[in-house]
Amino acid sequence: MKALRDWSVRHADALSALNRLAAPAARALGPMVRRFGAQRVATCLAPVERAAKSALFDCRMCGQCTLSVTGMSCPMGCAKQMRNGPCGGVRADGGCEVRPAQRCVWLDATEGDARIEPGHTPTWTQRVPALDHRRGGQSSWIRIFAPPEPGTVSAPAPVSTHGEASGAFEGACRDGRFVVTVEIAPPDSADPRPLLDRARRFAGLVDAINITDGAGGNCHMSSVAAASVLAGAGITAVCQVGCRDRNRIAVQGDVLGAAALGVRNVLCLTGDDVSQGDHPEARPVFDLDAVNLLHILRGMRDHGVYASGRSLEVPPRLFLGATANPFVPPHAERVANLERKVGAGAQFIQTQFCFDLALFEAFMREVRARELHRRCTIIVGVGTLGSAKALRWMAEHVPGVHVPRSVTERIAAADDPRAEGRRVCVETIRALRSIEGVAGVHLMGHKNEDSLARTIVEAGLRPAAAAA
Ligand code: SF4
Repeated sequence: MKALRDWSVRHADALSALNRLAAPAARALGPMVRRFGAQRVATCLAPVERAAKSALFDCRMCGQCTLSVTGMSCPMGCAKQMRNGPCGGVRADGGCEVRPAQRCVWLDATEGDARIEPGHTPTWTQRVPALDHRRGGQSSWIRIFAPPEPGTVSAPAPVSTHGEASGAFEGACRDGRFVVTVEIAPPDSADPRPLLDRARRFAGLVDAINITDGAGGNCHMSSVAAASVLAGAGITAVCQVGCRDRNRIAVQGDVLGAAALGVRNVLCLTGDDVSQGDHPEARPVFDLDAVNLLHILRGMRDHGVYASGRSLEVPPRLFLGATANPFVPPHAERVANLERKVGAGAQFIQTQFCFDLALFEAFMREVRARELHRRCTIIVGVGTLGSAKALRWMAEHVPGVHVPRSVTERIAAADDPRAEGRRVCVETIRALRSIEGVAGVHLMGHKNEDSLARTIVEAGLRPAAAAA
């Protein structure tokens, strides 16, 4: 079976051409199908379609086939149900973050797509909508024979405050000055005071503080609550919102609630798998991917509607962000992935840890060629780690982190690995500042606030006097 599926991806161009040739003939049969009853024909077609597509494409009959825009590789084989390109956790050898023995289906999709039309096609950059789970098990072929009547519902009118900065962080991004953000994991506590103490360590040093959302599949205080605590204390927060733990109903309600509590900045993520966290037995949700989450939140903000189309009384004012990981395969697809997120509404981007400047520069060349740096604020992830052992652990256990051996060896050989780690970070920040299109840095380091604050000053990002 696997050999047949590999054959399909290898012959994606021929299968796509066949599909294009067969479509007009199928459409010509449309009136006959309608006379007979489209539903009756769909019921007869479904088992045939299931057998053929299961053998050729490992099809799971989602009822919303995307094979023609995913290089004849079925995305339903993706453990996170990504509909719009790979997650940031693809392993260096191309293995899946969740099922390491399996190749990431999006690597196949990228290769198949390149065969259909070399150099990503316009269809590749278009957003694939979130799954309608009611259509599972139904035929997709019926839509070729008898396409649904075009809807008569018009798009809701914009109600946006777009154009008006929604807060201090958006203002900083629009000013064009070099932005600095830092990441804090929320506490394992019902007491907000330690969180506030850690956040206040960065007063005067950063433009915003990211609050992670169950990062690595570990349970902490919710990001919505922690970001609201900061907002209530006058500290600008970026609330990270992942798709792993909530379906589209819960996530929209949470973002609306966060906005009501003063949180303006939302970073949309698909989320890490649960297997590396402290609840590996938990059931992941992945009802949406980050691209569809962005699109839905933009709809709430700009059109005042939920994903269902139902109206909101008062839309949230949001500054929307997304992540990018230029450091993992498929490298050629990473800029297209960024473009899809920007197209879906991302106004700022925060990347995974940058330890490999050469890879990042190659990514930025392509970003500039597509002028994406003019459409969003690109903030690059950096961090300090106290030892080579910690770096190795992170490279092996944190999905999507790439650490070149030269960096680990340099820190391992140093007399004071902690100071050397900081020096590497400072050098990286200085190099990033000289890359056209880089608008800021995002500092990460688990419970490492003092070192991060020191790095900000040593890199010359903010004067020491700015720190409270
Ligand atoms: S690596 Fe990520 S995108 Fe690729 S198949 Fe696995 S979960 Fe899906």
